[in-house]
Amino acid sequence: MEAGYLQTPLACDLAPVTALSIFLGLDEDGAALFALDVASDVDPSAEGPLAGLGHFRDARTAAQLLPLEDAAILGQAKALIDWHQRHGFCPNCGARTALADAGYRRHCESCGADHFPRTDPVVIMLAIHEDACLVGRAPRFPKGMFSALAGFIEPGETIEEAVARELYEEAGVRVRDVSYFATQPWPFPSSLMIGCFARAESREISLNDHELAEAFWLEKAKVRALLAGEKVDGLWVPPSIAIAHHLLKRFAEMS
Ligand SMILES: [Zn+2]
Repeated sequence: MEAGYLQTPLACDLAPVTALSIFLGLDEDGAALFALDVASDVDPSAEGPLAGLGHFRDARTAAQLLPLEDAAILGQAKALIDWHQRHGFCPNCGARTALADAGYRRHCESCGADHFPRTDPVVIMLAIHEDACLVGRAPRFPKGMFSALAGFIEPGETIEEAVARELYEEAGVRVRDVSYFATQPWPFPSSLMIGCFARAESREISLNDHELAEAFWLEKAKVRALLAGEKVDGLWVPPSIAIAHHLLKRFAEMS
């Protein structure tokens, strides 16, 4: 899919002057990029300024189809627009807030408080026991889909503690030796996924908080086969846009 950026005249036709507009930065040619919150009733398949240009997709689907750089810009735009939409009122005094700093701040005239875009840290991890890793299936997942276990970091917690707590809460698995792998912004709406590995003490599983429909140990040979596109027990790996895919890939490469 080719990414398209609307030029200014068309963008002005689409959105009222009061529409939310956020400065994202300059591209490598020096062109200024803005995120514009167009009205939800604009339909590119009907008569209107967008006629013939295609159709809207939800951001998560679109990001999988876009080149990496455009997907990153889309993520930045989506995270900021979502944040503005949810922070119209001051959490300090309840008064209406106004956009400032080209979209990177909201200011409250009433109490003087400044509010900044937030990022919510989430740990996502593979517990490893010998040559198998722990994966799970949430009740909402389609049949055959599985992923690494994950959860929000709680106030006062370290990344290591969050990894250990989530694995115990969701699967009853005790771990040690938590190690960091990589991070990935996940702007649905505002998470930063922190990928980790951890060593499990045993393969006993007990679904403690019923967040998962199922959790199971997946042998490295099966992970390698799945990543190579082979059919294994009706399972399919998370797509490469997800950090879970890269955790599994790294696990498959471990000797
Ligand atoms: Zn206020």
